[in-house]
Amino acid sequence: MLIVPENKISELMTDEVALRAVEEVFGAMTTGQAGNFPVVREAIGHEDALYGFKGGFDKTSMTLGLKAGGYWPNNATKHHLINHQSTVFLFDPDTGRLTAAVGGNALTAFRTAAASAVSIKHLAREDSRVIGMIGAGHQATFQLSFALQQRNFEKVIGWNRHPEKLQTLAAIAEQADLPFKSVELNDMTEADVIITITSSFEAILQSHHVSPGTHLACMGTDTIGKQEVAADLLHQATVFTDEIAQSVSIGEAQHAIAEGLINQTDIAEIGAVINGTHRGRTGEGEITLFDGTGVGLQDLAVASEVVKLAVDKGLATEVEL
Ligand code: NAD
Repeated sequence: MLIVPENKISELMTDEVALRAVEEVFGAMTTGQAGNFPVVREAIGHEDALYGFKGGFDKTSMTLGLKAGGYWPNNATKHHLINHQSTVFLFDPDTGRLTAAVGGNALTAFRTAAASAVSIKHLAREDSRVIGMIGAGHQATFQLSFALQQRNFEKVIGWNRHPEKLQTLAAIAEQADLPFKSVELNDMTEADVIITITSSFEAILQSHHVSPGTHLACMGTDTIGKQEVAADLLHQATVFTDEIAQSVSIGEAQHAIAEGLINQTDIAEIGAVINGTHRGRTGEGEITLFDGTGVGLQDLAVASEVVKLAVDKGLATEVEL
């Protein structure tokens, strides 16, 4: 089996490879060629940790495996480690033998940013010029970097609960030679694309903060109870997601469904747009909303690609199991 350690991921993985891997697996999920297994997520009763597994199998790429890990809230203060910890394990689908163990922390950021970038690629207006960011935590910088590659953006605006944290996003904008402005939520109406990436449990973005024609990529809500945008925005928008079962249970759509504002049948998979079986955006004034909940197959897709890159560059360690 091969080991690709966490500290090699960022030098191996590229935005292009991550975007293509996630786009392809979303397409395979929609044709039924790839499927995610039920997610396990448990409080282990130690260190307040949440631990679990996200697995799946993609027959188009013959990628079988799981991501194991979770959230240890005391890591940063006690151990100088990041609180989210994960590892991806890949298996040979012909024999069940373990083929690779891959650091999953940086890959999570790559695959999550790739998901919203895929949604922007397929759903945002071609003439989108202003991108708005809600949230400025660990994921947000990856989100912005990926998104900036999808359209000819001319300006970045950002809102965060603690505005001083927006400096990290301003730095990404500066690298791309774009102006950055810290704004109030009311000013988000200027944005053509808005990414939400917070761990909020109540709606931040309201419908009067969003202009007609905007594409929203809602990426922070991945658990029961979390919420970033008002439920009525999902009623106004055409809603897309990575996986419908997750969207209605742990994603942003959980609230609009619970309030009876939309039905499950109102939500389309982004894979259908990728495969050309759904038209996607149909008008300049339409609000499109991508509910990115995060599926195990995204992790397996990027891990499988990074193993290939590591082998090519001689950075994978082979061990006998
Ligand atoms: P982080 O802790 O580094 O940052 C959290 C961000 O949320 C900060 O900007 C913080 O100010 C903001 N925030 C927290 N509570 C808020 C509130 N009540 N109101 C407004 N803003 C609030 O976290 P991160 O690693 O950047 O992750 C952000 C979110 O994305 C988390 O909810 C995480 O679970 C989720 N996530 C989703 C996926 C996916 O695939 N969809 C993948 C990874 C992370």
